[in-house]
Amino acid sequence: MTDGTTYGFDTLQVHAGSQPDPATGARQTPIYQTTAYVFRDAEHAAKLFNLEEVGYIYSRLTNPTVSALQERIAVLEGGAGAVCCSSGHAAQIMALFPLMGPGCNVVASTRLYGGTVTQFSQTIKRFGWSAKFVDFDDPAAVAAAIDDNTRAIFGESIANPGGYVTDIRSIADVADAAGIPLIIDNTSATPYLCNPIKDGATLVVHSTTKYLTGNGTVTGGCVVDSGKFDWSANDKFPSLSQPEPAYHGLVFHEALGPMAFTFHSIAIGLRDLGMTLNPQAAHYTLMGIETLSLRMERHVENAVKVASWLEQHPAVDYVTCAGLKSSPYYERAQRCYPKGTGGLFTFALKDGYDACVKLVNALNLFSHVANLGDTRSLIIHSASTTHRQLTPEQQEAAGANPNVVRLSIGIEDAKDLIADLDQALAAATA
Ligand SMILES: *Cc1c(COP(=O)(O)O)cnc(C)c1O
Repeated sequence: MTDGTTYGFDTLQVHAGSQPDPATGARQTPIYQTTAYVFRDAEHAAKLFNLEEVGYIYSRLTNPTVSALQERIAVLEGGAGAVCCSSGHAAQIMALFPLMGPGCNVVASTRLYGGTVTQFSQTIKRFGWSAKFVDFDDPAAVAAAIDDNTRAIFGESIANPGGYVTDIRSIADVADAAGIPLIIDNTSATPYLCNPIKDGATLVVHSTTKYLTGNGTVTGGCVVDSGKFDWSANDKFPSLSQPEPAYHGLVFHEALGPMAFTFHSIAIGLRDLGMTLNPQAAHYTLMGIETLSLRMERHVENAVKVASWLEQHPAVDYVTCAGLKSSPYYERAQRCYPKGTGGLFTFALKDGYDACVKLVNALNLFSHVANLGDTRSLIIHSASTTHRQLTPEQQEAAGANPNVVRLSIGIEDAKDLIADLDQALAAATA
């Protein structure tokens, strides 16, 4: 592809990062199923290891199929560079790793994927890191939570399990004033519905497992860097602004400018943490992204149809879908997410926990799985599964009360999804 600056999203999702294979002319990006790459000579090898020349060494670090995917996601997000890894949770660690050190903290939204709440409130403590959870509807509270040891702010654009959308600009202003990067998990929105970098985010993380791959085949993650953050403006980010002892004293920001974060993530992060994406998985995700905008349009359209129908059902207590006029976030969604609020939302049953269990068991088209962003419609009872490790207070803050189920609306006929919910609600409340 030539300079892509003038191409639209639908063109870029098919073409960005991929050229006909230089060796064979293969039009589709080949799966480079190889561990290592032959060096031209000893000098070439030395240059690659010194980052004096960019090329392939070993597939824990880089692989041409994975590189094509990285470039495609970076272009769609409007970033300078991207690094893929083995899962969304790996991407979150990869994003924090160059920024944090023992004693450092991240200020995070209370409305996050349940697994992220657990990762941030428990597991990262083993690294000496910690998280402070704050309501992102209150930018002043976010600002107040930042202290001398805060190294990042973290939130989700369209939050999982649904119903909440972040006003990214308002949080980016807080991050800018504090001189720290804003990290946005853009998994539920995808770059089709939201471009966090345009709204002021420094880093974007994805679970590519979800909508980007789109049909529930492989796990993967990605960290995109805007390339715009000045890592050398203060002494908070020594891995990027000071000689890095883990790479013979290289000063990444000085040597690599806007690509500093991306190169650090490969040269140090993937090298030493090893959370590599394999080329077969990258292939599935590249295939998925080719149809991203088409699928997202249908996910959005179906979700609003199903949510509107549920809202008037007598067994339903409430529906949290920011695409509905009844949502407290409707106005914000129209302003910040004009193409829609995705395929994910929750609803509560008047009858509570037991009725949720019956509902889940009675559905035919909806699959009861711990996943989202599939072409198929999915349902999960968050309180007994994805949000099970959380305290009741954390469950409530995340919108995962015991009488709530989460739907991930697929791309089927909306009338068939509604008919399935209709019969299952009748069974659940009989
Ligand atoms: C699924 C998910 C993750 C974790 O991604 P994995 O690929 O399952 O590791 C993180 N954030 C959000 C919003 C998710 O939906």
